[in-house]
Amino acid sequence: MNFAQAYLQCPDFPNRYISPEKLFFFLQKNYGGLIREIGRSYLDKPIYMMTIGTGQTKVIAWSQMHGNESNATHAMLDLLVTLQESPELSVDIFNKITLDFIFMLNPDGSEQWTRRNALDIDMNRDFIKLSSKEFRILKEIAENGNYDYALNLHEQRTIFSTDGENPATLSFLAPAENVEREITPTRKKAMAVIVAIIKGLPQEFHKNIARYSDEFYPTSTGDNFTKMGLPTVLYEGGHYPDDYQRVGTRKYYTIALYEGLKAISQLNGSDEGWEQYFDLPENKETHYDLIYRNVRLNTDFDCVLDIAVQYKEIYRRGEDEISFVPYVVEVGDCGKKKGWKELDCTGKTFVSKRKFPKLDAEVDFEIV
Ligand SMILES: [Zn+2]
Repeated sequence: MNFAQAYLQCPDFPNRYISPEKLFFFLQKNYGGLIREIGRSYLDKPIYMMTIGTGQTKVIAWSQMHGNESNATHAMLDLLVTLQESPELSVDIFNKITLDFIFMLNPDGSEQWTRRNALDIDMNRDFIKLSSKEFRILKEIAENGNYDYALNLHEQRTIFSTDGENPATLSFLAPAENVEREITPTRKKAMAVIVAIIKGLPQEFHKNIARYSDEFYPTSTGDNFTKMGLPTVLYEGGHYPDDYQRVGTRKYYTIALYEGLKAISQLNGSDEGWEQYFDLPENKETHYDLIYRNVRLNTDFDCVLDIAVQYKEIYRRGEDEISFVPYVVEVGDCGKKKGWKELDCTGKTFVSKRKFPKLDAEVDFEIV
């Protein structure tokens, strides 16, 4: 049995939203011996790191640096549950590597389901200024831990596809370390890991895998870790067909996390196969969540247009799941883009207090 066949979802965390308190309690109760507090957030929430394995090759990974990206936290929880049930899958990995996994680097943002931390700082653009308390913790650990690899675990918006048809459910990047996007020995090592991850993902899923843009960001984490000589793999979980809860994404993310660790344990610093990284298609910005096509407005001249909508993810205090609120993000001719859902409104009526849909506003109309 391979990992994909053995995959189990951690039953304690079925929702996309993860309450930090619930996570901390769960980790203390079930994995107390493996975790330690490595620091505190601005709002004084603990940040925990779990250490697994006894191997020579050291790996650092972190989840929810952006609070509204819970896939990687889920992936680590699912990985633990799956390996508990199928321990034979982990033996050859964790005697070769030691994994330090930081859960929820941004607990304040995670509680509010925001990208940024409590001071509205984007931690993934904070490498130079070090304005956020939380990012300093990661940087210090990464600089002093003699790591061989880093896994920078994120999620991306629903707008990306791999080929104009299939959503980019997982995208990977071996970040550039200079504006020239030079292919350095450090990048090649990260590329080799990505190539091995893709080989380990089920064949039918390959149409949903892409490569994230390697534009150089001088203040971001992966680019700077690579520059330091630490091969870093960026994971981006994305849209999965008809699945805004990202349950499918979560499953493939977990498999990819496992395959990444396995690849590192086998590659042992080699860059074997790195060239195939460039066979991956680049992310394409092709989609909106929903497009209403051919909507006739109530204007005094004949006006027919398309309305594109994106769901905003909102967390309301006290609830145990996020909500999806539709916003108008484009009006006019959306012929160049597609919608994951499209509704042809020919012959239907636009019902609204306004004569036309308002850009950047919550959807307040019906089409009947
Ligand atoms: Zn992110």
